[in-house]
Amino acid sequence: MTPNTLSAYTRGGTPWIPTYVESIDPRRCIGCGRCFKVCSRAVLALVEREASESLEEDDDWDDDAETTALMTVRDPMDCIGCGACGRTCPKGCFTFSTP
Ligand code: SF4
Ligand code: SF4
Repeated sequence: MTPNTLSAYTRGGTPWIPTYVESIDPRRCIGCGRCFKVCSRAVLALVEREASESLEEDDDWDDDAETTALMTVRDPMDCIGCGACGRTCPKGCFTFSTP
């Protein structure tokens, strides 16, 4: 049986539209890893930030935060569209798409 993303439902029978991860803004990401921890799939990967990649200036974050790492979308086809990564991100890095 072929999965149909347009006919997703909650257990209670309420129609539910997945929000699939589209991209992560490298200029905003501080490499905190929160999104990785909440993702139940192998979608995201933390990588070393290239020296040439600058971090967007922002004073509302702790200066001690790790900034040498960068979260990336490793396997977007494994995303189930739960949206948890975006909800936990303190920097609003994520963009999503719907089916
Ligand atoms: S939407 Fe869900 S499954 Fe997809 S990357 Fe985010 S946390 Fe993982
Ligand atoms: S939660 Fe946001 S800031 Fe933290 S690693 Fe993920 S994308 Fe980057």
